[in-house]
Amino acid sequence: RILTADDIKMSVKDNDVCFLRLAFTDINGTMKNVEVPTSQLDKVLANEIRFDGSSIDGFVRIEESDMVLYPDLSTWMVLPWQDGTSGRIGRLTCSVHKVDGTPFEGDPRNNLKRILNEMKSMGYTDFEIGFEAEFHLFKLDENGGWTTNVCDHASYFDMTDSDEGAKCRREIVETLEGMDFEVEAAHHEVGNGQQEIDFKFDDALTTADRVQTFKMVVRTVAKKHGLCATFMAKPLEGEAGNGMHTNMSIFKDKRNIFYDANGKYGLSNEALYFLNGILEHARAITAIGNPTVNSYKRLIPGYEAPVYIAWANKNRSPLVRIPAAEEVTTRLELRSADPTANPYLLLAATLKAGLNGIKEAKMPMEPVTSNVFEMSEEKRKELGIKPLPSTLHNAIKAFKADKLIQEALGEHLTKSFIDSKELEWARYTQSVSEWERQRYINY
Ligand code: GLU
Ligand code: MG
Ligand code: MG
Repeated sequence: RILTADDIKMSVKDNDVCFLRLAFTDINGTMKNVEVPTSQLDKVLANEIRFDGSSIDGFVRIEESDMVLYPDLSTWMVLPWQDGTSGRIGRLTCSVHKVDGTPFEGDPRNNLKRILNEMKSMGYTDFEIGFEAEFHLFKLDENGGWTTNVCDHASYFDMTDSDEGAKCRREIVETLEGMDFEVEAAHHEVGNGQQEIDFKFDDALTTADRVQTFKMVVRTVAKKHGLCATFMAKPLEGEAGNGMHTNMSIFKDKRNIFYDANGKYGLSNEALYFLNGILEHARAITAIGNPTVNSYKRLIPGYEAPVYIAWANKNRSPLVRIPAAEEVTTRLELRSADPTANPYLLLAATLKAGLNGIKEAKMPMEPVTSNVFEMSEEKRKELGIKPLPSTLHNAIKAFKADKLIQEALGEHLTKSFIDSKELEWARYTQSVSEWERQRYINY
């Protein structure tokens, strides 16, 4: 969808837009906004809105802090809710530039474009992505604070039409559709209060932008229903966690090059090479796809989340699955990432690893045919199946040892990513939890 500055001016008038929200994403994947009144529209469209980058995680130091927002006009949308204003709020996703006009390397969105250009220089057209972001809905208390009380006790695909969770989910879907999302599936997940809503796959940049909007919509609508939506990886001990399965394919013009009717498993050699690249860099990718301390409490056996680096064309236990599919929807499903990942960094890292796999043209290990969790350790060793990192600390170490995945982020983002994650880990190791007191108080 090509939109011009005039289209946007028209939309501002027609929809009675009174504020413009300019969105971008920090290193942690958190969406940040600069909001200006509509009187500033010309400045917005001329890439003249500045902000102080030193207050954004992973951006810059105070001395070089001025940053400029370049809106991507194709991302224009009018938010469906009013937020206490007399008119509506318009929203544009932006790239962050330096004052000299060049793209800022610390902006995860710019960085994804850089890796997408590497892909294009290899002759491919699109990196197509479908995310499946799961989340929990918890009740709010009388002060509007979150609780861990779920709003239902339904389970996978349960038809509990009457509960607040189902109502909320339906309103989320309606809201998304009103914002030009094509919602393909919405269902209750395995856990109590756990939900999943999937929208149609599209090119990587569009999908990364959309998942950021998706999270905002889910949180906003949930609040309206007296609920708190959380995308944290493992909100409840002993229950299913929240994954963000990442479905990936590469298109050349309009053709899905991962598909080959005569190929083994219906996959082309390129798909298998790409897969091998992902498997080889899986440990470092985990730092990016699973970037919180809590992420690793999801990557344990027993909850449909992966623990081992393996792939399968049938069962769901391994890291990468090949879902049954038609030609256009043939894809690799990476099952490790969770919705706390920064989608721009995640896609840059997976694409870089996959492209490198294509360059190396090496076949992956054989697919596993039985449940990896039920194999003995010797059996896994024999098959060359290694585990994913077990903690954020181990994942950071894997990231620091992987030059290719660091190149996928570039120097600036690599440094800010390591700084940010090491700080996170240090804070965690210094914290003392209830579990420890319960366990050790009488030692
Ligand atoms: N909730 C599971 C996870 O943590 C995934 C369930 C599914 O297969 O959709 O990854
Ligand atoms: Mg699911
Ligand atoms: Mg899935």
